[in-house]
Amino acid sequence: MSNSPLATYTLISPNKNSPRNHAIDRISIHCFVGQVSAKRGCEVFQPVGKQASCNYVVGFDGGIGLCVDEKDRSWCTSSGANDHRAVTIEVASDTQHPYAVTEKAYAALLDLVTDICRRNGKTRLLWFGDKDKTLAYTPKAGEMVLTVHRWFANKACPGEYLYSRHSQIASEVTKRLGSTSISPEPEKPDTGDSGAPGQAFEVGDIVDFLGGKHYSSANAAAGTTVKASKAKVTQVYRTGKHPYHLRAVNDAGAYVSGVYGWVDADTIGSEFKPYLVKVTTDELNIRKEPGTDSPVCGSIKDRGVYTIVAEDLGPGSKKWGKLKSGAGWIALDLTKKI
Ligand SMILES: [Zn+2]
Repeated sequence: MSNSPLATYTLISPNKNSPRNHAIDRISIHCFVGQVSAKRGCEVFQPVGKQASCNYVVGFDGGIGLCVDEKDRSWCTSSGANDHRAVTIEVASDTQHPYAVTEKAYAALLDLVTDICRRNGKTRLLWFGDKDKTLAYTPKAGEMVLTVHRWFANKACPGEYLYSRHSQIASEVTKRLGSTSISPEPEKPDTGDSGAPGQAFEVGDIVDFLGGKHYSSANAAAGTTVKASKAKVTQVYRTGKHPYHLRAVNDAGAYVSGVYGWVDADTIGSEFKPYLVKVTTDELNIRKEPGTDSPVCGSIKDRGVYTIVAEDLGPGSKKWGKLKSGAGWIALDLTKKI
């Protein structure tokens, strides 16, 4: 059993049972009740007298701390039965209702949960939103189930901010897991004339907002019109009517007034023109980021044709291309442009 390569800090707590007595098939997300860094969060669980721990801490700045190895049971959810089968995650949050977390922490949480599912052989993350149904459910192969602390103790944890996002977390992670299967389906070139070349933007991408309506939620009916500007993608909800949450930024990347809400995909432009490549090797690794030092998150074994939606230079100035599916990045020197 491995730990997440996304962890940026490790400080193992003595508060644990080693090893856990059940295979991992649950994830429990908690609010830390404090905007801590990953390091500070791990330090809090060091004293034996604390009698508490978690597997991971996600800091306010998106840093990830490993506090208890995944092979071990953390003391986190007030339930041994749950913690023996769950990977537990404490996320830095505000200290009062709704215990909001930062955009960076939320983005890191999605990455971490996706990574935990993938390394533990899971392809679907489920959220039932119901204690009895969840605890009575036997996960099928490939299924990971979300549970919450408030079901096991008289607590608000994980707080309304994270609790109300559990179904979004489940659908986004399942989508990411599906889009990074070992043998992705070859992609067809875009032939639509909608003006939206099917881009798959991600949190953190800087895009050109073309001007138009922004909405208060991803499925809101009425929005207000704002002017065009450069903007940063701060949340993605791919199944929403308005799938991207944007915030206007200046050339230095600082937030400025302008678009601040959910927008339609066709209001986002991109100067980059997507193009097709044919894979020229029998097995081509898909990596999370450009560069051979980035974790492998899939591979292409069909010498198929794929759409590249962004380019970047990795270490050694090797050119990398971002797959349209959102599965990750591939080395372009092992492909041929067609
Ligand atoms: Zn909790």
